[in-house]
Amino acid sequence: MCIKEILNLFKRKEIVVIGEPPPQHTLTIPHLEESVDPTRTVGNVDVIGTIEKFYTDWEVPETYQGFWDTVKIKIDPDFPLIAGTAGNTVTFQPPWFNCGVIAHEFGHISWDLLTHIQREEFFYLLRIHISTDPLVELWSKYRFYWQVNNNEAHSELYRYLGQFMPLELKKYFPKLL
Ligand SMILES: [Zn+2]
Repeated sequence: MCIKEILNLFKRKEIVVIGEPPPQHTLTIPHLEESVDPTRTVGNVDVIGTIEKFYTDWEVPETYQGFWDTVKIKIDPDFPLIAGTAGNTVTFQPPWFNCGVIAHEFGHISWDLLTHIQREEFFYLLRIHISTDPLVELWSKYRFYWQVNNNEAHSELYRYLGQFMPLELKKYFPKLL
């Protein structure tokens, strides 16, 4: 075998790699909004099961679950809002008693644990992340209720991103993250 033939062994006209296409870095909202369920009534809502599912899906640390278990859950078909939090009581209209709404309302209780300075810090950092973090930017355009005020923004961030929010923001969710 002459040197030319040896060199030809290493020559490849074209290398075709067959396999997985390159990853498409498409972002999605981790906890998409659940649709309202009009069949849910005071008589058939599964309070414990739904709270447990929320703990699992949002990965609420076990050490904090005891804290949330002390929150009083009320299911009231005559409640004027979808849900609302007053102190340690959260009231839901039955059709909207789902994990996402629980996450939102528990977010308000977590907000109550923050100092005024922490709340200002959170919103300052949130605004930075909206323009620098693709997932937070996507969140900011998914629903617009967060624009109501800083408190609602905090709850909405947790509701839709939960444990997948940027690390720098997680410390503003005491007892949840
Ligand atoms: Zn709210």
